[in-house]
Parts: sequence; structure tokens; C-alpha cells
Amino acid sequence: MAWDFETDPEYQKVLDWADEFVRNEVEPLDLVFPHQQFVPLEGRRREAIEPLKQEVRHRGLWATHLGPELGGQGYGQLKLALLNEILGRSQWAPVVFGCQAPDTGNAEIIAHYGTEEQKKRYLQPLLDGELFSCYSMTEPHAGADPTMFKTRAVRDGDDWVINGWKFFSSNATTASFLIVMAVTNPDVSAYQGMSMFLVPTDTPGVKIERSIGLYGDPPGTGSHALIHYDNVRVPADALLGGEGQAFAIAQTRLGGGRIHHAMRTIGLARKALDMMCERALSRQTQGSRLSDKQFVQGYIADSYAQLLQFRLMVLYTAWEIDKYNDYKKVRKDIAAVKAVMPTVLHDIAWRAMQVHGALGVTDEMPFMGMITGAAVMGLADGPTEVHKATVAKQVLRDYQPSTDVWPSEWIPRKREAAVAKYAEYLEHEVGNL
Ligand SMILES: Cc1cc2nc3c(=O)[nH]c(=O)nc-3n(C[C@H](O)[C@H](O)[C@H](O)COP(=O)(O)OP(=O)(O)OC[C@H]3O[C@@H](n4cnc5c(N)ncnc54)[C@H](O)[C@@H]3O)c2cc1C
Repeated sequence: MAWDFETDPEYQKVLDWADEFVRNEVEPLDLVFPHQQFVPLEGRRREAIEPLKQEVRHRGLWATHLGPELGGQGYGQLKLALLNEILGRSQWAPVVFGCQAPDTGNAEIIAHYGTEEQKKRYLQPLLDGELFSCYSMTEPHAGADPTMFKTRAVRDGDDWVINGWKFFSSNATTASFLIVMAVTNPDVSAYQGMSMFLVPTDTPGVKIERSIGLYGDPPGTGSHALIHYDNVRVPADALLGGEGQAFAIAQTRLGGGRIHHAMRTIGLARKALDMMCERALSRQTQGSRLSDKQFVQGYIADSYAQLLQFRLMVLYTAWEIDKYNDYKKVRKDIAAVKAVMPTVLHDIAWRAMQVHGALGVTDEMPFMGMITGAAVMGLADGPTEVHKATVAKQVLRDYQPSTDVWPSEWIPRKREAAVAKYAEYLEHEVGNL
């Protein structure tokens, strides 16, 4: 009997420290340095944030998603989930703890597929939190279906020359390098004909046409770039992994990234539930507190149950990843987590907002940002519909069609079989069945 829902006391102490540290030291950064997590540290920001990173390192909590060979603790996904749900409260926390998306996923694939030279050049500074990276895959005409991508890399002597357009390349303006997915062989299927390249952002021909903001972002703070790769020439050793390996690399990257988002979403949704409960207990109307109204009790109960279901699902999936050490084996559950995640955050944040009345929809409370965040989760790393299709296909693999026109659970046939099986006990009762 190995089922156990308890956190070991030693690690719980670590989590308690992280919780207090994030609430007291890191969450305030969201207010004093908003939208600047991915801007390389300098000046006063470096002075304020570097000691916090040092404290995290000192506690052994820096980049815990990585194995010891890469400077992390090798805690595995389950422990990471418990930590990440604390970090999810704050935009800055993942950066302060060295585990922010998209850099975690990018670091993972360089660690997995990179040459020693690539690791030295890109991975180490990424792990040290000294530079940022960008994953440049989606194109203006196609996102959810990567087989439609057109950006082309052509071999020219010792170089590759990349041409094409990429859309929604997050953090491109502050990233030191881009991981670009491009067609290298148009004559074979996309699954064999695309490759990944490591491209320094200052390479001639990398033209960031504009940086797009999400709804509600202050003007000028957009961070999702439309990029024109215009005859971008990179040496042969810019290829990440083998030629034609882009799909395999993308799956490695997105599997980890998706579950890490889900872990942090637990923290954000819990923050919304906390706020909902505090407000319900604080506000009086029509002779009683909001917490005494059955509608509001329903909001709280539904939110609590939805969060608990989601949390168990995420922790279970994290446990599976640790157990199998292979994202592919856990694809169904990662996709299921990804598919329900936007709804969980949306529903809880929406109810919390409603309970706060007019104040809830203002820019003095964080609910609208959470709801936008939920919408983003339904798209980034693939739309919900595509993940649901993945879940359904994987689930269906375990089933067979019925052998005749009647379902296998068709009661008349089952009853007939049951009666035959227990005939000797039913002599006197069969007439009543
Ligand atoms: C905040 C944010 C950050 C992002 N960051 C990055 C990044 O760093 N790098 C990067 O490369 N990309 C990034 N993306 C892009 C993201 O991966 C794409 O938005 C996503 O893959 C969907 O592609 P699309 O927007 O082109 O939508 P489309 O592919 O045009 O799909 C539009 C809609 O069609 C429906 N649909 C699509 N396919 C199916 C299907 N098979 N079955 C049923 N319905 C379907 C869905 O409703 C879907 O939302 C980011 C997106 C967001 C919102």
C-alpha cells in the first residue's frame, strides 16, 4: 500500500519557508517592478532582486526542476509541484527561484539535445538567471498545427539561412537567443522535415517587427513578438539536436512547460479563493454577511472542490512523470491537466471577482488579470480543443468497438447471461426477474 498524500515533514519546512518568503519578499516586486520580470537585471533592480535570488540559492531552492548535474536539486516533478503552487501567487517568484517559463522548457531541451558547446554558451547563463530565452515556433498563419509552418532553413555551405515569419514569440525583445523551428526538408513529412535552431537575437536579419501586448497590458509593455527572419545566417552548429528532430524536441519541451504552468495555476487560483473567502466574511448586506448567503456559499464550495480536484490531478500527473521519467507515457494526463486548467482559474477568479462587487472589476484588484490569464492558458502551448482531442484519442486506445449492434452493457443480454450463471440459485425467483 504505497498511497500517501502527506508531504514529508522536512520538505514541509522548506515549503513553509518558501511560502513566507514569497508572500513577504517577492509578491511586493509585482507592484514595484510590474511587467519587468524578463528584462535583464541592472541598476537598482539588480540590487533589490539579486539578494533574494542568493537567498533562494542558499536554501537550495534555485532551479529545482533541474537535476544536480545542471545545478538544481533534482527534486522531481512532485516536489516541484508543491513548490510551484507557492510560486504561482506572484509574477516575479518563478524568476527569483530560477524556474520561469519559457526558460525552464528551453533549458530542458538544451540540456537534453544540446552539444557541450551549446550548453556552455546558452544553458549555463540561462541557469544562472543571467539571460533570457525565447521559443519561436508559432507563425502568423498557423499555430495549433505545426505541420503548416513555412519558415524555411536552407543549407548554404557551412551555414544555415533562415527565412520566414514567427508570431507570438514571447520575450523576444529581452531574450539573448531564440529557439527557432524551421522546415529543413520540405520533401518529407513535417514530422521528419523540421529542425530547431539556436539563434542569437542580435544575428543580422532577425527583425522584431512589433511586440504585441495582451489586453490590459499598459502601452509599450507587450512582450509577444512578430518576427521576420530575413536571410538569417547561422553556422551549422546552431542546429539543436539532429536535423529533422524538431517535433521530438517540441514534445519534450511542451510536456514540462504545460505541467509547470498547471502547478503555478493552483497557487493563483488559491489566491483568488483566499480573497473570495476573506471578502465573504468581511462584507455585510441585507442583514448578514456575504458568507451567510447560500449563493456565496455555493461559490465557495464549488471553488474549493474545483481547486481540490485540479490540485490532485496535477500532483498525480507530476507523480506519474517522476515514476515513468518519460513525458510521452504521461501525455494523456498532461493534456487533461492542460485542458481543464483555464476553466478552473477562470471560474474561481470570476466568482471571487463577483463577490467583490464593483471593486472586483477594477484595476485595484487582480481578478481581471487572472481572467485574462485563464484565457491565455486556453491558447498558449496549444488550444484547449487540441488537448481535449489528444485526451480523447488516448482514452479511446483502451477501448474496443462492440462486436454487434447492441452495446456490451445492453441489459437484456447481460441479464440472460447472469441468469444462466446463477441458475441453480434462482429456481424459485426466476419468474420475478
Ligand atoms: C500569451 C501567449 C504566449 C505565447 N507564447 C508563445 C511563444 O513563446 N512561442 C510560440 O511559438 N508561440 C506562443 N504562443 C502561441 C500559441 O502557441 C498559439 O496561440 C497556439 O498554438 C494556437 O495557435 P493560433 O493562435 O495560431 O490559433 P489557431 O491555430 O488559429 O487556432 C485558433 C482556434 O481554432 C480552434 N482549433 C485549432 N485547432 C483545432 C483542432 N485541431 N480542433 C478543434 N479546434 C481547433 C481553437 O479554438 C483555437 O483556439 C503564445 C500564445 C499566447 C496567447
